[in-house]
Amino acid sequence: MVRFTNIGLRYPEGRGQWALSGLDFLLETGSFTWLLGPSGAGKSSVLGLMHLAVRPTAGRMEVLGQDVARMRRGALPGLRRRIGVVFQDYRLLPHLNAYENVALPLRIQGLTEQRLRADVTEMLRWVGLLERADAAPASLSGGEQQRLALARAVVARPALLVADEPTGNLDGAQARRVIALLREMHRLGTTVVVATHSEALPEEYPAPALRLEAGRLLSHG
Ligand code: ADP
Ligand code: ADP
Repeated sequence: MVRFTNIGLRYPEGRGQWALSGLDFLLETGSFTWLLGPSGAGKSSVLGLMHLAVRPTAGRMEVLGQDVARMRRGALPGLRRRIGVVFQDYRLLPHLNAYENVALPLRIQGLTEQRLRADVTEMLRWVGLLERADAAPASLSGGEQQRLALARAVVARPALLVADEPTGNLDGAQARRVIALLREMHRLGTTVVVATHSEALPEEYPAPALRLEAGRLLSHG
């Protein structure tokens, strides 16, 4: 569950401007939500708050049932590990092959090669990249890189998955493939939030939507 109560956000470098203000919404556990709005509306900022990269300036925020402001600092990494993130520009580690990119979150958790191999292999198979396990990210197509990023985001079984313009650099066929994987995560019980400035995607895949404009919520439905 994700709950924003009167959330406001002002960036330190933001010249006093509110990037977000007065945001109130609730995302139920297991929901799939589109986060819509034009460029600059605040979509990335909302996702940044949700995956705990950014702290709100005002208001109250609960993520996966935890009141984030009241949490001890030391408890944040544990909560972060339960949140998967996908970016438009993939953010893969270029010096690691496909397998190692997916393995990394599990290695950071301290799992041994023996214990993580089955999960990494399963994720690579799920996104259709098992045959490319040894490939460097730069040798993969954009669609393949995004599917790899998705495998890395979900290998630790997050309860919440947020994707920021995950199809922004992809052609139609590759975009549909990525959206299909995100919807499958939702079907398997993950809470999924996908930001896009596209009007076509939510038409093709109807789901509840949060619509932002100039840092405010226009509608929720
Ligand atoms: P979107 O993802 O919908 O394009 P953003 O969340 O990126 O919107 O941006 C919302 C507003 O916040 C914009 O006015 C943008 O310029 C501002 N903004 C975003 N990130 C920062 C930042 N790090 N510092 C200052 N202002 C920012
Ligand atoms: P084999 O048993 O055939 O020698 P491994 O058990 O090492 O192969 O790995 C099986 C497959 O899993 C490899 O072909 C490779 O694609 C992938 N794999 C396993 N570990 C790694 C790794 N550290 N780096 C890249 N790929 C790996």
